[in-house]
Amino acid sequence: MSNLMHGKTALILGVANKWSLAYAIGQAFAREGANLVITYQGERQKLTVEELAAELSPTARAIQCDVTKPDELASLVEALQPGPLDAVVHSIAFANREDLSRPFSETSRDGFVLALEVSAYSLVAVAKAMAPLMTGGGSVITLSYLGAVRVIPNYNVMGVAKAALEANVRYMAATLGPEGTRVNGISAGPIKTLAAAGIAGFSTMLKNFANAAPLRRNVTADEVGNVAAFLMSDWASAMTGEILYVDNGYSQVAAGMDDGGEKPKE
Ligand code: NAD
Repeated sequence: MSNLMHGKTALILGVANKWSLAYAIGQAFAREGANLVITYQGERQKLTVEELAAELSPTARAIQCDVTKPDELASLVEALQPGPLDAVVHSIAFANREDLSRPFSETSRDGFVLALEVSAYSLVAVAKAMAPLMTGGGSVITLSYLGAVRVIPNYNVMGVAKAALEANVRYMAATLGPEGTRVNGISAGPIKTLAAAGIAGFSTMLKNFANAAPLRRNVTADEVGNVAAFLMSDWASAMTGEILYVDNGYSQVAAGMDDGGEKPKE
């Protein structure tokens, strides 16, 4: 432990199970000395997430918060009083499964609105709700994916939502900057989680990624957690409005550039 987040209080939204990127981020934050509050979407995840909170640290709390419900967001703010809150992690996304497999041009209006509300607007709602608690400045991060800026097969409406999310990061950074709050995004390479399982052809995506990425392997959730801890720490004090790629360099090479060289280790 290097105590990068010693004495800081962090809110992490979006833990569903032990594979969630939010949980890996929680592990990194706990290792770095943060006090933790983690959230889950609904009653169905309550027990699992309460157990995970206890594994993170004896003082970590688990609270229910569906980000589409203003009353649950208000209760969360209440539970975090009197603050201060130093760090907020937004690790939430949702799209209807059929919108992640049929042609993009067939996305329904309702499916589009739902994906954008849960996956992009919620960052604005959360940051606005938490801003009064972030009295000592603070840091907000969200999780994005390359589909925001490139067409990725089957990512579809989620790519549009991530594009909006990345623009949100820049606008929120500009809005909250004068209060000393930083807002950044991590664009992670593909990692097997519950949300990822909803994307048709995800296993093929993982294989192709490892073949083409300069580091010739997939990204781990721990590696995302480490970068999240860095962004929350004072070492990143001059960084805001950024999207950091944690993807073994995949986004930097042209598609299909597998050169037949050394293959990833199994
Ligand atoms: P996950 O399924 O573990 O996490 C998604 C979370 O969103 C779940 O906890 C779910 O309950 C929550 N959620 C959905 N709708 C919600 C709502 N209305 N209110 C509150 N919570 C809600 O999967 P994950 O891969 O850990 O996803 C976390 C974030 O990381 C997402 O934004 C995802 O797009 C992003 N991401 C994932 C990958 C990947 O390959 N796994 C890559 C890049 C970015």
